[in-house]
Amino acid sequence: MISSSEYRKRLTKMRRNIYNDGNLVDRDFKRLEGAINIIAKTYDMVTDPEFKDYQDILTATSHLTGEKINRFTHIHQSIGDLLAKQKMTRITSQQVGGCIARCMGIDSTNALSVVTYMCDQKYGTEYNKRFVKWLKDFQTNDRTSCCAQTDVKGNRPWRPHEQKDPDLYLRIVERKSDGIIVRGAKVHNSFAPVVEQINVIPTRALTKEEGDWAVAFAIPADAEGVKQIVSAAMPEYPKGWSGPGPWGGSDSMTVFDDVFVPWDNVFLCGEADMGGYLALMFAQYHRHSYTGCKPAMTDVLTGAAALMAEVNGIEKEHHVREKLAELICTSELVYGTGIAAAINGSKSPSGTFVPDTMYCNVSRRHAGLNIYHEYDIVADIAGGMPATLPRSGDWVNEETKPFMEKYMARNPDVDVQDVLKAFAWVQGLTCSEWAGVMQYAGVHGGGSPRMEQIAIMGSYNLENTKNIAKRLAGIKVNKPYTFDRLGNTPKL
Ligand SMILES: Cc1cc2nc3c(=O)[nH]c(=O)nc-3n(C[C@H](O)[C@H](O)[C@H](O)COP(=O)(O)OP(=O)(O)OC[C@H]3O[C@@H](n4cnc5c(N)ncnc54)[C@H](O)[C@@H]3O)c2cc1C
Repeated sequence: MISSSEYRKRLTKMRRNIYNDGNLVDRDFKRLEGAINIIAKTYDMVTDPEFKDYQDILTATSHLTGEKINRFTHIHQSIGDLLAKQKMTRITSQQVGGCIARCMGIDSTNALSVVTYMCDQKYGTEYNKRFVKWLKDFQTNDRTSCCAQTDVKGNRPWRPHEQKDPDLYLRIVERKSDGIIVRGAKVHNSFAPVVEQINVIPTRALTKEEGDWAVAFAIPADAEGVKQIVSAAMPEYPKGWSGPGPWGGSDSMTVFDDVFVPWDNVFLCGEADMGGYLALMFAQYHRHSYTGCKPAMTDVLTGAAALMAEVNGIEKEHHVREKLAELICTSELVYGTGIAAAINGSKSPSGTFVPDTMYCNVSRRHAGLNIYHEYDIVADIAGGMPATLPRSGDWVNEETKPFMEKYMARNPDVDVQDVLKAFAWVQGLTCSEWAGVMQYAGVHGGGSPRMEQIAIMGSYNLENTKNIAKRLAGIKVNKPYTFDRLGNTPKL
C-alpha cells in the first residue's frame, strides 16, 4: 500500500491533459485541491492510528497475491467483503463529508471481474486473463481509478447506431494487430482528473448491430489522445479555516480523440450482449456503494441540522426532533437495505460476489428520492444565515468585528466564534456550488431514478404478488406460491 504523499507525487508526473475554463492546467491546479485531498484521505486512513480498530474494514487480503491491500482495490470474495465495502464507504465518506471518490474504481473492477469471466466462458475470449494481469498491477501499486461509463448520448431516444454522429457513444473505430482505436466522449467522470487510471465501460444494453459500441478497457488517465475538460467545485471557507480538508470534487468530460488501447488493456471488444451486462453489473455494484455513502451524507446533514438547532437554541423543540428522526430514518433504512443487499448477495461463476439486485436498487432509489428533502430540513432548522453570511474578512475587520460578535450571538452556551464557524461550514455544505453538485449526484449518480425503476420492475416478480391478491380474493391460482423472495436476482 502507498502513502498519500506517493499518490500526490504520482499525479505531478502525469502528462498535462486537463482543461478548465479555457486553460490547460496542471494536476496541482488550485480548484482540484479538494478532490485530491479526498483521495489522499483514503490512503491516510489505512495507517492513521485513529482508525486502527477499522483495519479489517479499510484493508483486505488480495485473492491474487495474498498481500494486504487497500480495500478500494479489492475484488469481493465473500458476503463479508460486500458488507465491509459498504461499511468502509460509510466510514470514509463521513470523514470527508461527501463522496469518497474511489468507489467508481472498486465498482468497475468488480464488474469487470464478473463479466470478463462470463464473456470468456461464452465466447472463448481471453479478457479475464488480461484483466487479472491488469488487476495485479492495480492492487500491488495501490492505484486509483475512476469509471467512465456515461456516454454523452446525443438525442436521448435514439440508440447508439441511430445517432446522426456515431461518436456520441464511445466506439471502436479500428481493430489493429496490437490493439484498438477508440473515439467518443464520456461525461460526468467523477475524480477523473485526479486518478491514475480510467476504467471505460458501456452505458447501456446494446443490440446485435452495436458491437462497435461494446467496448471496455483500462487506460492511463493521461494517455495520448485523452483530453479531460473538467469542472471542479469545493466550498470556499473563511481565511484561516481550521477545519479538515478542504474537501471538494471534480468531474470530467473525457474526450477520446482516436485513442490507441493495447490488447492487454482491452476487456471487451464487440460482444454486444456482454456490453449491456457489464453496464448493469457496474450500476448494481455502484448502487450498493450508494448504500454506504448516502447514509454517510445523511449522517453529515443530520449532524448539521443538530448543530444548527444547538446554535439557534432550539434543540429541544418538538418539530426539530421530529425532523432529525426523519433524517435518521432515511440513513438507517438505506444502510439497512444495503446490508440486506450484501447478505442476499451471490457468488458469480468468476468467484466474485455480487450484491442483490432488488435491495441495491430500492435502497438507492429511496436515497435519491429523499435527497432534496434532507437539504430542506437543514435549511429549515438553520434559518437563512447560511445563504447570507457576511464574508470572513468582515469577521476580522476592526470596524465590523464588534458588530459581528454582538449580532451573531445566539444560544448563550455557544461561543460566537463557533456560531460563525458552524454557519460557514453549513454554508459550504448546503449553499455552495459544491452543495449543488452533491444534490445532483444524489439524484443521478449511479443512474437516473428511471434506471433504478427499470431495474426494480425488471427483477420484481409482480405475477407472484398478484397471485397473493388473487388468493385473498378467492380467485383460482394455478401457479406455485413463492413466499420468501418477491424480487428475483437474475441468474449469474
Ligand atoms: C455529480 C455526478 C457524478 C457522476 N459521476 C459519474 C461517474 O463517475 N462516471 C460515470 O460514468 N457517470 C457518472 N455520472 C453520470 C450519471 O450516471 C448520469 O448522470 C445518469 O446516468 C443520467 O444520465 P444523464 O446525465 O446523461 O441524464 P439523461 O440520461 O439525459 O437523463 C435526463 C432525463 O432523460 C430521461 N431519459 C434519458 N434517456 C431516455 C430515453 N431513451 N427515453 C426516455 N427518457 C429518457 C431520464 O430518465 C431523465 O429523466 C455522474 C452524475 C453526476 C450528476
